[in-house]
Amino acid sequence: MAKKQFKSESKRLLDLMIHSIYTHKEIFLRELISNASDAIDKLYYRALTDENMTFHAADYYIRLSVDKEARTLTITDTGIGMSEEELEANLGTIAKSGSLDFKQNHEITEDADIIGQFGVGFYSAFMVAETVTVTTKQLGADSAFCWESSGADGYTISPCEKDSLGTKIVLKLKANTDEENYDEFLEEYRLRALVKKYSDYIRYPIHMLMTKSRPIEKTDENAPTEYETYQEDEILNSMVPIWRKNKSELSEEEYNNFYKEKFYDYEDPLLTIHTSADGVTSYKALLYIPAHAPFDYYTKEYEKGLKLYNSGVMIMDNCADLLPDSFGFVKGLVDSADLSLNISREILQHDRQLKVIANHLQKKIKSELLNLLKNDREKYEKFYQAFARPLKFGVYNEFGRDKDLLKDLLMFVSSKEKTLVTLSEYVSRMPEEQKYIYYASGESADKIEKLPQAELVREKGYEILYFTEDVDEFAIQILHEFEGKEFKSVSSGDLGIENEDQKKEEEQKETENKELFVFMKDVLSGKVKDVKASTRLKSHPMCITSEGAISIEMEKVLNAMPTDHKVQAERILEINVNHPIFAKLTKMLSEDKDKLKKYTEVLYGGALLIEGLTPEDPVEFSNQICDLID
Ligand code: ADP
Repeated sequence: MAKKQFKSESKRLLDLMIHSIYTHKEIFLRELISNASDAIDKLYYRALTDENMTFHAADYYIRLSVDKEARTLTITDTGIGMSEEELEANLGTIAKSGSLDFKQNHEITEDADIIGQFGVGFYSAFMVAETVTVTTKQLGADSAFCWESSGADGYTISPCEKDSLGTKIVLKLKANTDEENYDEFLEEYRLRALVKKYSDYIRYPIHMLMTKSRPIEKTDENAPTEYETYQEDEILNSMVPIWRKNKSELSEEEYNNFYKEKFYDYEDPLLTIHTSADGVTSYKALLYIPAHAPFDYYTKEYEKGLKLYNSGVMIMDNCADLLPDSFGFVKGLVDSADLSLNISREILQHDRQLKVIANHLQKKIKSELLNLLKNDREKYEKFYQAFARPLKFGVYNEFGRDKDLLKDLLMFVSSKEKTLVTLSEYVSRMPEEQKYIYYASGESADKIEKLPQAELVREKGYEILYFTEDVDEFAIQILHEFEGKEFKSVSSGDLGIENEDQKKEEEQKETENKELFVFMKDVLSGKVKDVKASTRLKSHPMCITSEGAISIEMEKVLNAMPTDHKVQAERILEINVNHPIFAKLTKMLSEDKDKLKKYTEVLYGGALLIEGLTPEDPVEFSNQICDLID
């Protein structure tokens, strides 16, 4: 029979499995049992929702059996089975979920120790088996099919005999080597221990015939006791899903292992939330906050959601409606008996109960995050580094619908000690006379630090929040205020801290030099809304600020978007009237207007550069500088 070839990416993973020097080869059993359990779930779900199917709990099970002589380990399930096409599609290529994640996230190297923690799925069988034979019969199908492979050189699929529904996987174990002992997977006690360790919560019984010994009844009282061996069927797992156990019964390690296995992560989660509710809507939920953003988190491909179970049966792999976008990074599951099972999955999404659960979870996640912030700052900051963006977008989205939920979770780097602070920390240490929460936007903290616009605020000793992400200023505009304090950009026209005397002085200077300011404004007509004497600058000669709703940072962000409609902030060129340059400008007004024009343009260009904007015509700008040097 002609061998079919594995798809190239599958072949790489397969190669890795075959030559794996990974020490925890034992996880193959967990993977195969999980697949078996998923397959039974699918059938079970069908039976619950299809009136024509009858349901017998005893029909759903997994069985392990060993044949020491043939050196085979067999895993049988009574699940939904696979058609010929599915065999081809599912086992000939890497399946989407875990394996793909694995493939994209990691350069697959020979000694990637990480593989054991991943859901590498079906192919992990090749860590221990030289040949894998899958015999499967699908619900409703007339014939069964057999898939067989001895590794990377391909696989065959052929029709075969199988009476019962479901899938049987026979692993012909590799021969022992000096370093590796594969015989251990033929030992009943070893297998039982592995099931306990990794698959105890599987909700279908995992049977195995265990060899035991018992004393033979004596005919002669004085004769020595003799023993006979016999076989007894045993159920190896307790079948209680981890989320149905009491918190007190569970160790952190159990929670973490479950997470890594179910959600394909190689790192322990940052936070585990195990919660339940009883009442009008009752449910149990096990939620995890990952320690890092999934590799595809910021792509369109990422699908947020929680697994949804109805009394232990998984009915939806990814129910998006259970999580708001701003908490889209949360992984986990919800199990509720109150959901109407017999309706289609689309309708389920609009189920009222589902909304109630989603609301509870949202509040719960928030309160757990706030607890973390209070009790383990370091961990919270780690969380925040990974997931600040969705939180900020959450504030901004839907016209700020979730802003009150999220505002307490926000943090920004502040000018004080350059560490992250929450808004409430900022407000609590504001001096009494400080009216606003000040912020400055820019590409990086280093650049913001040098912004001339911030000089006055800094001199006052007020703390400044550094906004380095696109979304920051938009989010804050939606928030508008925090605990009654409004936000104010250090680049905005009126800072609310100008000293009255000083202000008068500047105004006077402006009136005295009206001609100069009008001249400069004319030179820059169409580019700036005004040229003014500055009340905020101390050591710098000039800067650009803005008036109105759109700041210069927002202008940059908005104009970077693919749209024809460009916006422009209302720019103001501020001139420091106490700077020596100002004296020069006034002198030039009477002596050399041409030169003043050039100086004005150069000053404006320089101010743009400070803002991270390019002068409209960079060549012209450079020529003007050269002219002045001349
Ligand atoms: P994953 O389980 O992460 O999707 P696997 O490589 O383990 O990836 O399995 C690939 C696919 O093969 C599964 O998604 C499932 O559709 C199918 N499959 C595997 N084992 C079984 C089984 N015992 N019964 C039915 N289908 C199975």
